[in-house]
Amino acid sequence: MSNCAIVGINWGDEGKGRMVDLVTEQYDVVVRYQGGNNAGHTVINEYGKFALHLIPSGIFRKGVVNVLGNGVVIDCEHLWKEISDLRAAGIDITPDNFRISDRATLVFPFHRDLDALEESRLKDRAYGSTKRGIAPVYSDKYQKKTIQAGELLYPEYLRGRLAGILEWKNLTIENVYHAKPYSLDEMMAWVGRYGANLTPFICDTGAFLRQAEAQGKSILFEAQLGALRDLDFGIWPYTSSSNNIAAYAPVGAGIPGSRVDRVLGIVKAYSTCVGEGPFTCEWFGEEAEKLREAGGEYGASTGRPRRVGPLDLVATRYGVIMQGATELAFTKLDILSYMKEIPVCTHYEIDGVKTADFPFPALLEKARPVYTVLPGWQCDISGVRRFEDLPAAAQDYVLFAEKALGCPIKYVSVGAQRDEIIER
Ligand code: GDP
Repeated sequence: MSNCAIVGINWGDEGKGRMVDLVTEQYDVVVRYQGGNNAGHTVINEYGKFALHLIPSGIFRKGVVNVLGNGVVIDCEHLWKEISDLRAAGIDITPDNFRISDRATLVFPFHRDLDALEESRLKDRAYGSTKRGIAPVYSDKYQKKTIQAGELLYPEYLRGRLAGILEWKNLTIENVYHAKPYSLDEMMAWVGRYGANLTPFICDTGAFLRQAEAQGKSILFEAQLGALRDLDFGIWPYTSSSNNIAAYAPVGAGIPGSRVDRVLGIVKAYSTCVGEGPFTCEWFGEEAEKLREAGGEYGASTGRPRRVGPLDLVATRYGVIMQGATELAFTKLDILSYMKEIPVCTHYEIDGVKTADFPFPALLEKARPVYTVLPGWQCDISGVRRFEDLPAAAQDYVLFAEKALGCPIKYVSVGAQRDEIIER
């Protein structure tokens, strides 16, 4: 038995879904341990192209049990739609292959509204939230004022608790944001419409996972976003509202004493980020447009154009360290094939001082990238399946990154399809 976490090393959108889809056949269980439907994983396989937001990417593999752990926040309306869409595409989703932790936190429509209300109050200082209610619901969780998925199994108990929560929430909605309050009947009707559909999937997934472990089954932990968006270690305050680092995986899954034997960190061959905040290697204008178009860099959840730029080895090395990565997958190398020369950022310069260490967030605004320019290869590499068959310049690009990151690059992804991968 061995457990593995697949985590993002950068800002998210590194291609985690694609890598989980590839390696799930080696695992019995896939668990999402944090976040909600605020980010999407794209998976392309024999069933079609899917943007998964909540459902673990192991759902396409027969015999794999997919779990939403206690660390996840669930919008029942969204999840029900995701289940329905997958079923319509011919994917089987039953309590045998999909389970929801009774301790997962529910996102309500008022969380989404509060997210949007706060972003509009902030105007040009907005965080760039996806407005899925993630920050409001996680902060309510810390105030112990949220509903757990298991409460859907006890509607009368839930009604009583929701009444108290709404009384408190409406104070903010009405008096701070001057918006329309929610009634208990309205929210219970919403629960009836969407939450009731999910009850067959809800169980004590922690107990299930602990038992699976005891039986020698292997578990894959699937993270959302990347290290630079981690609540504690990311670019504060432009982080997500949960911990995506691999160290949190056992806690968010419900097996706190468990070991994560492998941490497969996913690194994109160039940088992209969604939302606000410092992004040291950002490109603008035509240069950015070309890379964005080549990489199809538009948000899987929101369709927003992503900010793009060259590979940032300073931020990426920090991500590798904070994730405790034991090996890396280097994705989207094929996207760089159009470039004659490829800059990579090896250092930052802050107030005239050159550093290879990722600084405290407040200093990032002042950081200027220091680039080394590597030669491009300018040919299609998507058909290559062995590392030694890559053009020399492409091999050198990967080896340069590997050396700077101090962690072995085990996979090089050269396309979005399942088989467009080089395993070293
Ligand atoms: P995730 O959230 O980390 O899973 O990343 P996204 O799904 O947002 O972004 C990855 C996107 O790139 C998806 O559209 C994938 O199908 C695609 N993709 C992943 N790896 C590769 C690759 O090596 N080459 C190309 N061309 N596309 C890739």
